[in-house]
Amino acid sequence: MSERRIVVRIITQLVACLVFSAALLAQAKQGADLLVSGGIVVTMDGKRTVYQDGSVAIKGDAIVAIGPRTEVEARYKGVVIDARGRLVLPGFINGHTHVPMTLFRGLHDDVTLNDWLYKYIFPAEAKNVNEEFVRWGTRLAAAEQIRSGVTTFADMYYFEDAVAEETKAAGMRGVLGETFIDFPAPDNKSEAEMLAYTEKFLKRWQGDVLIHAAPAPHSIYTCSKKTLEDATALARKYHAPILIHVAEMKKERDDSEKVNGMSPVQYLDKVGVLGPDVVAAHCIFVDEADRKLLAERQVGCVHNPSSNMMLASGVAPLEEMRAAGVAVGLGTDGPAGSNNDLDLMEEIDLAAKLAKVTKMDPLALNAKAVVEMATIDGARALHMEKEIGSLEMGKKADLVLISLDEPNAVPMYDVYAQIAYSLKASDVETVVIGGRVVMRDRKLLTIDEPRVLEKAREYGKSVKASLGME
Ligand SMILES: [Zn+2]
Repeated sequence: MSERRIVVRIITQLVACLVFSAALLAQAKQGADLLVSGGIVVTMDGKRTVYQDGSVAIKGDAIVAIGPRTEVEARYKGVVIDARGRLVLPGFINGHTHVPMTLFRGLHDDVTLNDWLYKYIFPAEAKNVNEEFVRWGTRLAAAEQIRSGVTTFADMYYFEDAVAEETKAAGMRGVLGETFIDFPAPDNKSEAEMLAYTEKFLKRWQGDVLIHAAPAPHSIYTCSKKTLEDATALARKYHAPILIHVAEMKKERDDSEKVNGMSPVQYLDKVGVLGPDVVAAHCIFVDEADRKLLAERQVGCVHNPSSNMMLASGVAPLEEMRAAGVAVGLGTDGPAGSNNDLDLMEEIDLAAKLAKVTKMDPLALNAKAVVEMATIDGARALHMEKEIGSLEMGKKADLVLISLDEPNAVPMYDVYAQIAYSLKASDVETVVIGGRVVMRDRKLLTIDEPRVLEKAREYGKSVKASLGME
């Protein structure tokens, strides 16, 4: 055999060996359903790790790997979503809203909360809200929320079972509270009916991966002690969360001091409501003793800056609450009369700026803190931090891809400042919830958007007519 032929044979054998090893390696790669690869991955994990060229591997509804792209891609194969030039973040958590009220958006603004509730919205609801209304309002809200990167929301309304069905159909995650209120509501006319409806609702959704059903006693100013106790007992029987408005206006606090001889927070504790399953919206009028109690009872709180500003309700003592150890998330509140949209990225921006102007201190509540409130702290406030709120192995695959190829997105020096102050809801491109892509390149995949918009316009006309506004 000539020397040349020996060299050729050796090279051939080496190549074959390499090909075989590569094939073995490829075989050793584990299967993932989805690989979100190449983006700047902002994990919001305990160390607040950011991967500049990162990748997230998803199998089923959960994250199976996260890390530098080269490492994850070496171990996993699957359908790739190219995230280059984009931020990859945990989906935003809207901790407090009333989604079907999208259909009342802009109906009556520039009034006090008390007038808005009693003069306008309660009568409008009595005339218009039925199950079909709630379904279309929820579909509209799902479209709006997915477009702004929201993957989980906490809701309080009527016909919440229909809200749950539509939320699940849209592929969103929801903590959905059926309202208890001491007057005939659009769905249930008495407390007995409310209890029966809610018990059935809680039973139906037990164990569902996307839907967490809950009782939602509206507030201490619309619910008697008995209603609060009954709603609480029902929640505890089914290990469900409790959603409630707490200390959201000065009148509520003053009345509670007068009638109960104590603050709303102390009263709720006395009645037995407060606990590690409670999500309290607003918490504006909470003094030092209240904050201590909220932390001790592990109540989650939700700050709603747009709503608090629009209704001139006041400013929640956020930094004091966080310092006391209270988990505080962010919410939009209702899309009617108190915001009027469901854009959580706007709340991130406003939460920081409202805190700064209130304290007359630009160092108050920095960008990273407000991004935490929209993600991991929002999850803690909903008592769901084991499932969502950060991108970590084992957690649900709820994530958003935000374009950095926008005039308002360049250049970027600090990723948290960019999210808080520069990026907008319209920069959200792709949204994945529980491993399912619900928006791809700004196209909604689970909602018939043109039809929903058309129906919303129709509802606008019928609501106006019902109130003699034409
Ligand atoms: Zn509210």
